[in-house]
Amino acid sequence: MQTLTLNNGVEMPALGLGVFQTPPDETRAAVEAALDLGYRHIGTAAAYSNEREVGQAIRDSGVSRDEIFIETKIWISDYGYDETLHGCDKSAAKLGVDQIDLLILHQALPSDFDKTLAAYRALEELLADGKVRAIGVSNFMVDHLTTLLDATSVVPAVNQLEIHPYFQQRAVLDFDDQHHILNQAWSPIGGITFYPGYGEDRKSVLTDPAVTRIAKAHLKSPAQVLLRWGLQQGRSVIPKSTKRTRIAENIGVFGFEVTADELTALDALETGRRGGPDPENVTLTAYGRVIPEA
Ligand code: NDP
Repeated sequence: MQTLTLNNGVEMPALGLGVFQTPPDETRAAVEAALDLGYRHIGTAAAYSNEREVGQAIRDSGVSRDEIFIETKIWISDYGYDETLHGCDKSAAKLGVDQIDLLILHQALPSDFDKTLAAYRALEELLADGKVRAIGVSNFMVDHLTTLLDATSVVPAVNQLEIHPYFQQRAVLDFDDQHHILNQAWSPIGGITFYPGYGEDRKSVLTDPAVTRIAKAHLKSPAQVLLRWGLQQGRSVIPKSTKRTRIAENIGVFGFEVTADELTALDALETGRRGGPDPENVTLTAYGRVIPEA
């Protein structure tokens, strides 16, 4: 497994299993399949309600804890200094671990950025105390990052963002690169462009003719091509599946490369259309919900 070195020297497997929308009763099987197939990085979140099952699967897998990179996120309802410290305790207890490898803020709260900063300062404290090995953010735009960097001491190790060929967020990627913040792609195979309930007028990037043509040329699947596109540009990718065959397919991406021309053809698919919520519109009123105690 290829690894990426975070800005504090911590090594992270470049590809991990994502578990957003993986129901709790399917999470153990998915995570166990992934670990059996060679995954060593699992990406969850307090808001996904499946941290407990992720932890159980890790313990049941027979793979030793120190070989597995566990990433989770603090939800906005737990922002604030003391609240975020407690949010980390809740996640660690549900996961059943003493130390989380990467803990990130799930979203900025633009309407209450002081609370976001307080949450980030708690992450800094958790890092200093050794409760987490690295800290970061998710869905932070350039203005959020600029304010964060001005007001805090530790540069985030990771910014987890919606990144697939239809929505690439190049300005944020460039800013992150300049500041040694690793870009990690959510919906790396474009899940947000096709998963149900997010608008019937969407077009799946997996069936885009440019993607299927490149897949055919390499005798690979469209999902594998999109994962190569991310990995070859230095990004971390965390594809989600509950199906063992697809979990296997998604890690089968280390024996081939797409060409420079193919990368350019995939870059040219940008639509400017965001699939997920606009980070500017994330508020506690719209998205807040209680994260249960462990
Ligand atoms: P993905 O790009 O990983 O796509 C997942 C979808 O693709 C699912 O519907 C899955 O279905 C299907 N799928 C998986 N593998 C294949 C394959 N090989 N061929 C065809 N279809 C496939 O999208 P996600 O949005 O789930 O993103 C991945 C991870 O990113 C999440 O699990 C989560 O950890 C993170 N994320 C973070 C967000 C944030 O705000 N920070 C927001 C959204 C996601 P099935 O399970 O049935 O195989």
